[in-house]
Order: sequence, then C-alpha cells, then structure tokens
Amino acid sequence: MQATISSNRNSNKRHSIIYLNSPLNEAANEFATDQGIYEAPFKSKTWSKVSRLANKHHIAALKKLFPESAGIRFSDKAGCNCGCSPGFVMKHEHPNQFGRMFWVDFQASETEVNAFENTLKKLAGEFAAEREAYKNKLASKVVA
Ligand SMILES: [Zn+2]
Repeated sequence: MQATISSNRNSNKRHSIIYLNSPLNEAANEFATDQGIYEAPFKSKTWSKVSRLANKHHIAALKKLFPESAGIRFSDKAGCNCGCSPGFVMKHEHPNQFGRMFWVDFQASETEVNAFENTLKKLAGEFAAEREAYKNKLASKVVA
C-alpha cells in the first residue's frame, strides 16, 4: 500500500496515535452496509473477522511505514475513552518520538482492494448463517 502521512505533536504520552484513511475500510464499510451488519441486533463475529483482517493489512503496512516503532496495535479507544476515535496505538523506544499524532492516507492498488473484496464476498455467507442462528435462538425462546 502507498501512503501519505501528516503529523503533529499532541501530548506528553509515551505512545503515538495513528488515524487511518484506507480503501480497505471503505470496502469493509460498504460490505457492512450491504449486509445490514450495523443494524444487526447481535454482535457479529463475521464483522470482528472483517475488522481483524483489514487491520492485519493495515498493521503490516504501518510497520513498514514506521520502522522505528516498538509496536503498533489497533484500539477502539485509541483517541478517546468513549470509543468515538478508533485508531492505532504506536509505542516508541525513543522519547523524541513520543506523543505524536499521525494521519495516514493509504492508497491501495486495485488488485489489493479486489482481493480484499473477494474475501468479503466469501464472508457474506458466514454473516447470513449468524443471522439465521440468532433468529432460531429467538424462535426457540418464544416456544419455550
Ligand atoms: Zn469520544
């Protein structure tokens, strides 16, 4: 993946925060909207899988982009404890790298995006099965 980075120093914290713009997140978002994942009345395992998969790509790309980092992980609460600002938390070994905020704009090739979308297509069936299982569980509760 290609990337454009901007940054500033924002805090005294020992870690930095990375916010991401990514075509994989756009594809995942489109998938979730099409499948009705956001409206699902249960916490979807398929959606967790989609997020993990996208972030696996992102973390691999970010590690190349920030070879000086001492670890990068995704966090729903990277930017705020309420969960409104998910992002990546990056640890550092050197104090002159502490406390920065990065905005990374990824550009993936069409091949990369297509490969990801094909994986998502396969996961649509898993989500359908999850929804079916949820319905059946509700139905059995009503009967009992
Ligand atoms: Zn918040």
